[in-house]
Amino acid sequence: MTALGGTLTEEQAQVREAKEKLGNRLLILAHHYQRDEIAEVADFRGDSLELARRAAQAAAQYIVFCGVHFMAETAAILARPGQRVLVPRKDAGCFLAHSVNRAQLLDAWDRLSAVMDGERELLPVAYVNTTAEVKAFVGAHGGACCTSSSAKAVLSWALKRSPRVFFIPDQHLGRNTAHLLGIPEEEIALWDPRHPPEDLTPFKKKRLILWRGACNVHVRFLPEDVERVRKQHPGVRVIVHPECREEVVKLADEAGSTSYIVRKVTESPPGTVWAVGTEQRLVGRLAKENPDKTVISLADVPPYCSDMSLIRLSDLARVLSGLLKGEEPGRVEMPEEIANPAREALERMLEAVG
Ligand code: SF4
Repeated sequence: MTALGGTLTEEQAQVREAKEKLGNRLLILAHHYQRDEIAEVADFRGDSLELARRAAQAAAQYIVFCGVHFMAETAAILARPGQRVLVPRKDAGCFLAHSVNRAQLLDAWDRLSAVMDGERELLPVAYVNTTAEVKAFVGAHGGACCTSSSAKAVLSWALKRSPRVFFIPDQHLGRNTAHLLGIPEEEIALWDPRHPPEDLTPFKKKRLILWRGACNVHVRFLPEDVERVRKQHPGVRVIVHPECREEVVKLADEAGSTSYIVRKVTESPPGTVWAVGTEQRLVGRLAKENPDKTVISLADVPPYCSDMSLIRLSDLARVLSGLLKGEEPGRVEMPEEIANPAREALERMLEAVG
């Protein structure tokens, strides 16, 4: 914990006190896109898949999840009886997760089922960046969740079980993953929930139907950015997240999940120059933790996730102080009728990746 002028701030002291008093009854998880003040006090930092795994294995009574709401919902779905999942800010959502809701998904499913047998010819795969309700729909229809690390394994699993996959909601992750599996563009269609097509017969010929959603942070990286950094930094390695546009992924040297990016940069030889196409809190931390390398954002105006940024140390301190008083501020509860099918979808993902 970084102290200011050698002494802890009031919030840092509150966090330390709660950690000491609650001991192994408390586990603080933080996503890589969290502010430094949160990342510094977390017991574990990771990407969505790592945090989902860590939450599922945790023995702690209280899991305080410093990340956006769908991540805490996932932890609550995987929690053991008696375990409590709490979030410092319930209003920290996700632009991408909110690009699909259950009503839109039901509407799309009904329309597509008019031209194909929805149960036998269409299998849904949902990126974990979705609400629990959307995951529950997917689980109830035999489908699975995926993360950016597991997308290739899960999509391949799904395509072995069904002639057609409905990939929700990140069109870029879906398309980039399809290309890794050798699925040509002609076999991919886009589903726009705001403008559903009149003629649905073309969808019968596709192997992959992509929901028209995107992350508003990762779409900010453009092909021009790759061209610019290559001119400005000869020899630069460009690494991007697969939520970036297909044109950017194609121009990059490497693409991979958040944990892949962290590993590649950390393990690279001293002197390597990296331009990274992902959320800026992670890029800034990578630069700080790898002083023997040059790590810069791929964009000239680095993008931050405004939802991840909502969580401050004062929010975490408030939750922890509440726990010490016997309260459960920010508790995330999941009704069984949603948790059960959503858990099936998550468990299928964990099985698919082994
Ligand atoms: S970076 Fe994008 S996908 Fe991740 S939480 Fe923020 S809006 Fe959602």
